Amino acid sequence: MIPSREPDSVGPAALRRLVEAMPKAELHLHLDGSLRVETALSLARSRGVDAPATYGGMFQALVAPARTASQADLLTRFDLPIALLQDVEALERVTSELIESKAADNVKYLEVRWGPALHVRRGLSLGEGIAAVCGAAQDAAARTGTIVRLICTAIRSHDPAAVVKLAETATRFRDQGLTGWDLAGPEAAVPDPLAFERAFAAARDGGLRITLHAGEWGGAAQVRRALALDPERIAHGPGAADDPGLMAELKERGVTLDLCPTSNVQAGIVLSLAAHPLTRLHRAGVPVSLSTDDATVSDMLLSEEYVRAVEQNGLSLPELWAIDRHALDAAFAEPNLIRPLRQSFERWAAAVPELGEPDRGRPA
Ligand SMILES: [Zn+2]
Repeated sequence: MIPSREPDSVGPAALRRLVEAMPKAELHLHLDGSLRVETALSLARSRGVDAPATYGGMFQALVAPARTASQADLLTRFDLPIALLQDVEALERVTSELIESKAADNVKYLEVRWGPALHVRRGLSLGEGIAAVCGAAQDAAARTGTIVRLICTAIRSHDPAAVVKLAETATRFRDQGLTGWDLAGPEAAVPDPLAFERAFAAARDGGLRITLHAGEWGGAAQVRRALALDPERIAHGPGAADDPGLMAELKERGVTLDLCPTSNVQAGIVLSLAAHPLTRLHRAGVPVSLSTDDATVSDMLLSEEYVRAVEQNGLSLPELWAIDRHALDAAFAEPNLIRPLRQSFERWAAAVPELGEPDRGRPA
């Protein structure tokens, strides 16, 4: 049960306007789940990839229904985007467009993650693919003013030795904005992230900051397993809310859960947005951030996820604002980049009384 709070004083239209204007930070976003439908149509045509030829058909292929059977089912939505992203130009275009869409939604700090090893089917090397995304991200960041950092995602179903190579390659791009290391993919099929311990060590030794996906299957036990790799953040992990000891440990160690409620409903791991433990975890003092996971698979921008968190999950506006600012604290970016950003967030909030006193809404 979510404890009752006094309702926020703004109506639905005002809430949406406020959230759209709010400077936002998003930490959990996959490049390959975020292709624009028009772009996917154009890439399929120009690359000769077998795919739906109409907007409606492509929309159906890329956007997951409100609910699928499981994470494994949700993951099938990535097969076509990955087939379309096998050359430098396609990776550059999709990276640029995603950052532009996010900047238009007032996302001022963004971390984009992708699995470079999925994009080598047509002869690209790992290094060429990573360089393409890094270069396009830097250009789009300069154009839009949104600060962008990148996370290299390893895939659980891949050979652990190959994943070590990926980590070593990724560390060469640290000065090009690639600052994080992640593990994602079919969790039920490959539940133990410790199989990739050597790759995590290589990433860490190379200066990358550590996160990994956990709890899209298997609940709190999977979040515990992830903690064995000593991450700064965990992607998802809503099941932690079922385990008070684990919540205490996350709080104590300061491990942030990068939550994506809509995506979790689509993957069938929570019943509804109202039932998602986002608000409960935040009120219990567990560090959380709020993201969309995928712009296209979930067909939404971050403002929409924020609005839903207030309207359907019971988060107050000051709490939403505290979570938004916390994403800057947990960001895989250099402190000298974050400091001015935090100041600009605070300046904006100072003129918005609905967000409450500066420290209201922070976890106790
Ligand atoms: Zn994810």
